[in-house]
Amino acid sequence: MADIIRLLPDHVANQIAAGEVVQRPSSVVKELVENAIDAGATEIQLIIKDGGKTLIQVVDNGKGMSGTDARLSFERHATSKIQKAEDLFNLHTKGFRGEALASIAAIAHVEMLTRTEDDDIGTKIKIEGSKIVSQEVVVAPKGTSMLVKNLFFNIPARRNFLKSDQVEFRHITDEFHRISLAHPQVAFNFYNNGSDVFQLPATDFRKRIVHIFGRKTDEKLVPVDEETHVVKISGYIQKPEFAKKSRGEQFFFANNRFIKSPYLHHAILGAFEGVIRPGTHPGYFLNLEVDPGTIDINIHPTKTEVKFDDEHTLYAMLKSTVKHSLGQFNVVPALDFEQDLNLDTPYSYKNKQVGIPQVVVDSFNPFENVQPSRGNFGGGYSKPKVDGWESLYAGIETNVETGASHLEFESEVVNSSIFDNEKDTVEHTTTTFQLRKKYIITTIKSGMVVINQSRAHQRVLYENFLKNITIKEAVSQQLLFPLSLSFSPGEINILKEIKENLCTVGFVFGEIAEDGVEISGVPVLVVESEVQMIMEQLISDFQQEIPGDSFSQSDMLAKTLAKTLSVKTGETLDEFSQVKLVNDLFACKESTLSPFNKRVYVTITENDIERKFI
Ligand code: ADP
Ligand code: MG
Repeated sequence: MADIIRLLPDHVANQIAAGEVVQRPSSVVKELVENAIDAGATEIQLIIKDGGKTLIQVVDNGKGMSGTDARLSFERHATSKIQKAEDLFNLHTKGFRGEALASIAAIAHVEMLTRTEDDDIGTKIKIEGSKIVSQEVVVAPKGTSMLVKNLFFNIPARRNFLKSDQVEFRHITDEFHRISLAHPQVAFNFYNNGSDVFQLPATDFRKRIVHIFGRKTDEKLVPVDEETHVVKISGYIQKPEFAKKSRGEQFFFANNRFIKSPYLHHAILGAFEGVIRPGTHPGYFLNLEVDPGTIDINIHPTKTEVKFDDEHTLYAMLKSTVKHSLGQFNVVPALDFEQDLNLDTPYSYKNKQVGIPQVVVDSFNPFENVQPSRGNFGGGYSKPKVDGWESLYAGIETNVETGASHLEFESEVVNSSIFDNEKDTVEHTTTTFQLRKKYIITTIKSGMVVINQSRAHQRVLYENFLKNITIKEAVSQQLLFPLSLSFSPGEINILKEIKENLCTVGFVFGEIAEDGVEISGVPVLVVESEVQMIMEQLISDFQQEIPGDSFSQSDMLAKTLAKTLSVKTGETLDEFSQVKLVNDLFACKESTLSPFNKRVYVTITENDIERKFI
């Protein structure tokens, strides 16, 4: 048989390698900006167009390249940063693989302009899909300008895989945050489609954080500082009361390089445990300085995952250092843990006056300590219409099933009535019963249905919001005083993207500034005090799962609102609300599944029951 193994031609090998290095425009930004930093630049400009798809340009004032180096830099495994394998264990630069420029040149149109301090004239090189188109001697300022156009022009499949310009822009912004935070002493200018995104002067770490995330961030920061022979930990954590629904502001840097470390992240969570609300995430900006020989950054091609020699020690130190900072700045006691968060869930149709609970069970009234604001959440407390039930259970101490004594009067004090302004319109033909503040049980011809109240309500709200978005006919309530909410510029960008859809569900926006928004109206279901929380949840959902088109954007918005506003497990519903929920659920287009594809109810037929009695 003839020999069949052949070496791949260089341009094919480069294209394959490019797949690893360049996933999307933000990867190009990362590589080019890191090269500029490695070249000792003190000022870097980043210019992009159309989410980086048509153009990415990075201009630096670093050391530049000679004509020969300029040409060589596009070869694979061409690097000035390491010479022998041992150098890998003492890295002080971002790059070292010598792959980035070769990869980028394989899949885009590239123009490089560069000059060193010692040379009088510079070099201009044009490369398209690994082929050198031209190399000229030109007049150029000291430093390097890299222009990357038409990314993936020769790999249509990859180009089609790119998301919308906005989404790609957001990835680039994330990358920009990471690099500019790691290098506050370098000045950065970032332009998108001709307009300013960030103008960051050279400064210190704290000011860099504030420049990026907005003025209000300053007051949230608590310094962290600890030095041992293993590691120097420095930076800032955010005060626990500013913990957010979104995970946006969590940054680890190891030797000035952004890293991801779920393990160390866990150490921080441990330190914050008990001082932040469940479901919220602490913010942190932490630098770890370790001996370059004790860290392996080579285990991942895009180099954000690292391996430390002694991770356990690092974990313990990080946790205790962060705890220490929390304690030292006396930020812990400011929180009120007495508050039961379950009670904070909004779902009344309108704001109400605080009502005194009408039912007093024995002498214990769980609402005695209710703060006035709570009245907003529950709506008027009304006595469940379960006359006679009490006597049925009188004398029964324990029930057959464990814990089923709870069956007793779960709705002794009903703290919620979701639909009370419609009370008169619903017929009371359905019989319902609430079980363990979690399920609504109702009868059907063939037996009974057990409905998960929270999922059912999610479904109802979800379809409702989707309908409103589609027909653009939401009802909103005007706020007496517009709310001013503060966000980071990144969050504001996301808000701007989803603003139109938010308006269709009933939010009314006033001015949108760089680091805050004014909201003058909210959907009828939404309670004023919850608006910040809802917005944060929305932003966080959009950050994590970036929807590509406007349909999926509406869908996601409806889902998030439904999740946030729905009745939760643990909430008692009065009989009216139970019946209304059941009726609304079965009026839905799809009543069997929640918007998150979870089962909403199960049916138990008479046969099923009878079989149990055999
Ligand atoms: P690496 O950064 O891993 O060395 P790259 O392909 O990114 O590999 O770059 C190859 C080489 O080109 C670098 O080692 C460096 O010598 C040179 N280079 C790239 N970008 C610049 C720049 N902006 N300024 C000066 N030299 C650069
Ligand atoms: Mg590089």
